[in-house]
Amino acid sequence: MGTTDVIDPATGAVFTTVPSLGSEETDAAIDRAAKAFGQWRRVAPGDRARLLRRFATVVEEHLEELALLEVRNAGHTIGNARWEAGNVRDVLNYYAGAPERLSGRQIPVAGGVDVTFHEPLGVVGIIVPWNFPMPIAGWGFAPALAAGNTVVLKPAELTPLTAIRLGELALEAGLPENVFQVLPGKGSVVGQRFVTHPAVRKVCFTGSTEVGKSIMAGCADQVKRVTLELGGKSANIVFADADLDAAAAAAPGAVFDNAGQDCCARSRLLVQASVYDEFLARLEPAVRAFRVLDPSDDSSEMGPLISAGQRASVSSYLDGADLAFQGTAPDGGGWWFPPTVLLARSAADRHWREEIFGPVASVLPFRDEDEAIRLANDTEYGLSGSIWTRDVGRALRVSRAVETGALSVNSNSSVRYWTPFGGMKQSGLGRELGPDALSSFTDVKNVFLATGE
Ligand code: NAD
Repeated sequence: MGTTDVIDPATGAVFTTVPSLGSEETDAAIDRAAKAFGQWRRVAPGDRARLLRRFATVVEEHLEELALLEVRNAGHTIGNARWEAGNVRDVLNYYAGAPERLSGRQIPVAGGVDVTFHEPLGVVGIIVPWNFPMPIAGWGFAPALAAGNTVVLKPAELTPLTAIRLGELALEAGLPENVFQVLPGKGSVVGQRFVTHPAVRKVCFTGSTEVGKSIMAGCADQVKRVTLELGGKSANIVFADADLDAAAAAAPGAVFDNAGQDCCARSRLLVQASVYDEFLARLEPAVRAFRVLDPSDDSSEMGPLISAGQRASVSSYLDGADLAFQGTAPDGGGWWFPPTVLLARSAADRHWREEIFGPVASVLPFRDEDEAIRLANDTEYGLSGSIWTRDVGRALRVSRAVETGALSVNSNSSVRYWTPFGGMKQSGLGRELGPDALSSFTDVKNVFLATGE
């Protein structure tokens, strides 16, 4: 077993190390999870629900500790990190309602009685990226456990600390050993074993589209179930009839939150030509006022990028681009980058087309509704997006026409744990959260009982 250094992105300093599992240790953990599945699936629904509620309570009791860990490890602002730990608690509570409601159907047939069961799959492998370590972990493990599966979870190499702590808290809450195991290590070792090990019956992957495709191809070999949450390049469409003050005030948060390292970032700002100048005049002060500060400061709205590599990659998008305006960022150690707005010359610009995963917004004017829809859909991605208008008919028409999985009208928020979340096109496959996510952690079994009629 090796180790990985963990770095504080606000200073660039190593502050701890964690184990990095090899393939033998991964196999041993998967074998333990497969054994534990036999017991966990037989835990009575009410008891499974109680254990998940207790897990949620223990997360609540450690909310501040988890939040501070994320500030240190991922550079998230303390406000965001508290929300993220609270989201794990909420998602656990939400799916704690599921075991007691996981009912099948009784279907009328000739010659007997027909019933269906939602059977758990077995061991579920969850692969988490570095941008939202806690929520993305919870969106996988909470419904997976509720449906009766056992879970092995691999955090991203850069951000393992909160996941490791959640694994400990699960035991503290009384979940049986090996029902939920956190396995820090490399994607090419631990993550890859989730794909190839036959006892892992489903992989939930969140991360880059490139790795997601290779996971899907690998899972095909065993017809392994797979959920993919991948990249995005979402549009924020501002029509001339919108409340421009509200749209401009909200636009920075829609792309600079989490330093733009958000698959839902509305990084393509489409503004109707007749209000383009007016809108940019409102946007500029909002961008300059965006508070990029030490993430542990309560008033910080944005922290650093996750790594030196990420900062180099984000910077490269400014080369040769038309800079509209920038906010500010601290100097010195750490991977800081200021909020930046670029003017796209056309929809062919690299910064307009590629997911930057940093605090960079690109702006392009459009003439009319048809052109806005065409430009919004001119991408391989389809994750989120916003529409700003006062016209209800237009809001619905455009919402139906934009090819993405999670849209907001006169709002920039995408995630509510009660509602489905996921991508169209190359942004993903399947849906997380909401009432339907549970079905992707079970297989439907049909049983016919002959009654001799
Ligand atoms: P990544 O694809 O490099 O890594 C994601 C996870 O996969 C990590 O845990 C990594 O160790 C693991 N991994 C890497 N190679 C693997 C392999 N061959 N087999 C198995 N596992 C492997 O992505 P990243 O750099 O950590 O995250 C950034 C990307 O994630 C962005 O492109 C972003 O859009 C995307 N993302 C999408 C969503 C979403 O919900 N759609 C959410 C967060 C991040």
